[in-house]
Amino acid sequence: MHNQLFIDGRFVDALDGDTLDVVNPHDGSLITRVTAGAQLDIDRAVAAARRAFPAWSRLAAGERGRLLARLADAIEADTGLAELESADTGHPIRDARGLDVPRTAACFRYFAGMADKIEGTVVPVEPGFLNYVQRTPVGVVGQIVPWNFPLMFTGWKLGPALAAGNTVVLKPSELTPLSALRVAALAADVGFPPGVINVVPGFGNVAGQRLANHPDVDKIAFTGSTATGRRIVEASRGNLKRIQLELGGKGANIVFADADLDTAVAGAAWASFHNQGQACIAGSRLLLHEDIADAFLERFVALAQSIRVGDPADPATEMGPLTSAAHRDRVLESVEMAQAQGGTVLAGGKAPADPGLRQGFYVEPTVVAARPQDRIAQEEVFGPVVTVLRFASDEQALAIANATQYGLGNGLWTRDLARAHRLARDIRGGMCWVNCYKRVHPGSPFGGVGESGYGRDMGFEAMHGYTESRSVWINVDAGIAPHFAR
Ligand code: NAD
Repeated sequence: MHNQLFIDGRFVDALDGDTLDVVNPHDGSLITRVTAGAQLDIDRAVAAARRAFPAWSRLAAGERGRLLARLADAIEADTGLAELESADTGHPIRDARGLDVPRTAACFRYFAGMADKIEGTVVPVEPGFLNYVQRTPVGVVGQIVPWNFPLMFTGWKLGPALAAGNTVVLKPSELTPLSALRVAALAADVGFPPGVINVVPGFGNVAGQRLANHPDVDKIAFTGSTATGRRIVEASRGNLKRIQLELGGKGANIVFADADLDTAVAGAAWASFHNQGQACIAGSRLLLHEDIADAFLERFVALAQSIRVGDPADPATEMGPLTSAAHRDRVLESVEMAQAQGGTVLAGGKAPADPGLRQGFYVEPTVVAARPQDRIAQEEVFGPVVTVLRFASDEQALAIANATQYGLGNGLWTRDLARAHRLARDIRGGMCWVNCYKRVHPGSPFGGVGESGYGRDMGFEAMHGYTESRSVWINVDAGIAPHFAR
């Protein structure tokens, strides 16, 4: 386990010696203390990234791809990585092994292949000129990520940035820094040059803030809450750095009367409770057509109550603890607040009774019936809490779905093809899933609109987001007449 900052190819202590506690959410025990970087540590990481930039950006793109592919292999071959991620975050081990690790490797591999696929264009301008447009790396990129998928976010963020020829300073969440440090160590093992990847754990208002306002950082790619996204935009004003924001969400998962109910019930449980509901794209508002609402809820509540909540290290566990005690408290408070506003708890709403889980940060899968205007239906809870709302028509469903500040991922369950396409067009968000939910792939753009942010992770769009265009004009034989002829 690595517990220092990774700067310029080496693990080092913070200059001021500060540390942060990394806690196991299953029982609140201390896993380790990790060095917390502060302003001067960010400064030296940025300086290392700047020094590494010229050579890295001029390396043959295929060579950058080769290193990324080797990193993907190393992540897959690392036998302890899933256990580390599970202990740090509370992800059930079956998810850490079956989703987090393979998805991270797949993402690095995808961008390994893309490194030498970003081609320029030739623009048909006036005869006698050759005008070509190249994609060039942005420079030194700061990446600030949250605690809900810390390993996967290394792939989403580092993959395209490095493939495009940028150098990076990544700041993981203060709650979950371990897997990013492990990826940094694996990257050094497979041959990434010093300074290309720097990982500096630290507190948001110290290390994160410094990265965001650093005058020599060219871009910040941020994933986190909408409130912090605003602070990053403010902090970036000094040098007008580029910003990419992947922020909060309040996904509408809409079940129409013609849906296959069994599939929709299973899909809605995945949308609400996978990763303990700690997902920006969670289907946290479940909209049910009034004709099927009661039948749907009977099955859905029974399924929620049957989910095996327990020790993430147990391969039989389907839902683990939330990642921090403070967050568990916030989630339970939001359920209380929903009840105070007249909402009804149909399942869960409390910590599990099992005495073996009492020291951990557990919350039962929770289903709350409420009204669209209630806070529980408007604000992101980011936990295993799904709010049930009812509708009578397509128009009403769309109006409810679009009536939040967010616009990220939404789901539709229907057999009516025209309705699916119509609503996929009209529903506000960056992603829409039909008869499935929360599908992600490294090739498919991921991001939001409105207060869910701007810019995209994954796919060609992510690569473009880590490049600038440069237009070059060559006078081949244009014979330009002098503008001020004498
Ligand atoms: P957060 O905004 O509190 O923290 C995210 C990161 O920002 C952390 O690394 C934190 O240290 C850092 N940070 C905090 N204050 C900062 C500051 N002033 N300057 C710079 N950096 C700062 O979010 P969180 O609680 O860690 O994560 C949950 C949020 O992330 C939810 O809102 C969720 O929707 C969002 N999220 C969005 C996506 C997406 O792709 N849209 C994906 C996952 C999570």
